[in-house]
Amino acid sequence: EREKRKAYFAPESEAAAGDIPESFTQMNLSRPIMKGLTLLGFVQPTPIQGRTIPIALLGKDICGGAVTGSGKTGAFMVPILERLLYRPKKVQVTRVVVLCPTRELAIQCHNVATKLASFTDIRLCLCTGGLSLKQQEIELKSRPDIVIATPGRLIDHVRNSQSFSMDNIEILVMDEADRMLEDGFTDELNEIVEYCPKQRQTMLFSATMTSSVDELIRLSLRRPVRIQIDPPKT
Ligand code: ADP
Ligand code: MG
Repeated sequence: EREKRKAYFAPESEAAAGDIPESFTQMNLSRPIMKGLTLLGFVQPTPIQGRTIPIALLGKDICGGAVTGSGKTGAFMVPILERLLYRPKKVQVTRVVVLCPTRELAIQCHNVATKLASFTDIRLCLCTGGLSLKQQEIELKSRPDIVIATPGRLIDHVRNSQSFSMDNIEILVMDEADRMLEDGFTDELNEIVEYCPKQRQTMLFSATMTSSVDELIRLSLRRPVRIQIDPPKT
C-alpha cells in the first residue's frame, strides 16, 4: 500500500528576495510590455500579480491560490511574454500552452494576452471547441508562440493530426485547475503534461486546493513556489 505523498513547496522567500513591487514600473519590465499594460489600463499590480510576476520571471514553477477576479491572467501572461522576448528563438515554434476550463475563459485570457502583446511580434492562437477544426489546424501549423486552449480541443489536435506538437513547450499554464478537474479533464491534463518536455516552467492556478489539485501539482510541478492570496473581505 502506497502512502500518498503531499506536494512539496519551495518557500516563497527563497525564490524572490526583496519586497513585493507596488507598481509595474518597479518590475524592470521591457518597454513593449509596459506599453501593453498601459493599453490595458493596468498601473498597479494586484496582489497575485505583485507576488507571482517576480518569481515567474525567474523561471520558477508556481502554484497560485487565488479566486476569480484577482488578476491571474496578468500574473502569468506578463512573465510569459517577458521570457519569450528575453530569449528569442531562431525558428518559429510553439513555446507556451495556457489551459483554461471553458471556451469563455479561454477567450477572455486570449483578449487580455493579445492586448498585452500588441507591441511585440509574439503570435497567439485560440484553440477551443466551437471553432472550426480545419481553420484551427491551419493556425496551429503556423506555430504560434502561444496557444490558449481548452484541454479537450488541444488533445484532439495533438492526437488526431500532425498540426500541433508540444515538443518545444517551455511554459505550461493550468488556469483554474480545480475547475478543469471538476469538469472531468483529469485524464486530458495528465496526457498534456506527458506531451510536454520535462524541462519546462509550469504554473498552476486554483481557487481551491483539493486533493485532486494536490495530486496534479505533484505530477506536473517541480519544487513549486506556493503563492496564496486571501480573498478580499467584503
Ligand atoms: P482572474 O483570472 O483571477 O479571474 P482576471 O485576470 O480576469 O482575473 O482579471 C479580473 C479583472 O481585473 C479584469 O477585468 C482585469 O482587466 C482587471 N485587472 C487585472 N489586473 C489589473 C490591474 N493590475 N489593474 C487594474 N485592473 C486589473
Ligand atoms: Mg482567469
